[in-house]
Amino acid sequence: MEVSFSRTRNTYELISTMNCTQARTLMSAAVDGELTLKEQEGFEQHIAGCSTCFSEFKEAQKTKSIIREKIIRFKAPQSLINSVLKLTETTF
Ligand SMILES: [Zn+2]
Repeated sequence: MEVSFSRTRNTYELISTMNCTQARTLMSAAVDGELTLKEQEGFEQHIAGCSTCFSEFKEAQKTKSIIREKIIRFKAPQSLINSVLKLTETTF
């Protein structure tokens, strides 16, 4: 009884360091590896205890690597990227 209580408590404390909303805010920066050490720590602690955010993070990582792969494969010249960006700016 005592053991299971303290285990529940530990898990609760682990998750309570960061909630899902906070974890999701950091999600994209986490995929890019742009978190501060403290953010990274809290984020990793959260996804270790939260399967929902964990799978979302894995999914985001997968998407990111697919995009990166496509960009490398496409090998767009910088001038083209610039003109596309300019086009987007004027559209907005
Ligand atoms: Zn979560």
